[in-house]
Amino acid sequence: MAWFKRQEKGIITPTEQKKETPDGLWYKCPECGTVSDMGEHRRLLYTCAKCNYHDRIDSAEYFEVLFDNNQFEELDAELSSGDPLHFVDTKPYPQRINSTQRATGLKDAVRTAHGQINGLDLVVACMDFKFIGGSMGSVVGEKIARAIDYARKNRIPFLMISKSGGARMMEAGYSLMQMAKTSAKLALLAEAGVPYISLLTDPTTGGVTASYAMLGDFNISEPGALIGFAGPRVIKETIGKDLPKGFQSAEFVLEHGFLDFIVDRKQLKQQLSDLLTMLRPAEVPAAPARA
Ligand SMILES: [Zn+2]
Repeated sequence: MAWFKRQEKGIITPTEQKKETPDGLWYKCPECGTVSDMGEHRRLLYTCAKCNYHDRIDSAEYFEVLFDNNQFEELDAELSSGDPLHFVDTKPYPQRINSTQRATGLKDAVRTAHGQINGLDLVVACMDFKFIGGSMGSVVGEKIARAIDYARKNRIPFLMISKSGGARMMEAGYSLMQMAKTSAKLALLAEAGVPYISLLTDPTTGGVTASYAMLGDFNISEPGALIGFAGPRVIKETIGKDLPKGFQSAEFVLEHGFLDFIVDRKQLKQQLSDLLTMLRPAEVPAAPARA
């Protein structure tokens, strides 16, 4: 029967008539495998409708999630890294910086901005994991330090959104110095009585955990985020023991007293603005005018 037999060999649709599925139309959850359309995924702020897996997002998305009408003033947007150690691994460090800048459209692994959330002023520093693993080098440290200074001088609460593999090895000692610098700036912020909230997202590790990420007046996290200093594999090999289930997850870290609470990204803006409202200094009522 003719219709069961292929009469001509191969696929004969001309190339110009082939229809391609546009990229990024569907999202497949890496945790539970549920497929949803990209519009729905964006509407849920990049969390899974079924299992609530929180997808990694970048500073652009966090700014959009938090700032009213996505309006903000970016601080120190042009700061870019030097090469103090003339570091070369598989390629020279300046070349790595250039190619990463071109690929990501970012200058380095953190962006800082001043805007409003639900009408309340907030300075936000948000890390970008896609820029050399969100590693902390001198530009990251300097931008965070300047954002903290800006928050202190203008008496605006500061939010740090961490997402990092730790210190940037290409800047070695210079990277480690950023831990002390940012911690000292945060101490000045605390002294001035300006609130600091630290949001740890997936993953927050290494020198970032060991400095500014854990120094918040409130240390909070997104569900399921990996939070630790050394990675689980390194610890397992060092102590020669199996690690408990869920080790270094936000939930595990919360249970062991390192976090104040875990916040669902869909409630992040509201919970932050509630917290900021609570932390606002009470307004002293003006003395009544004399009759
Ligand atoms: Zn899922």
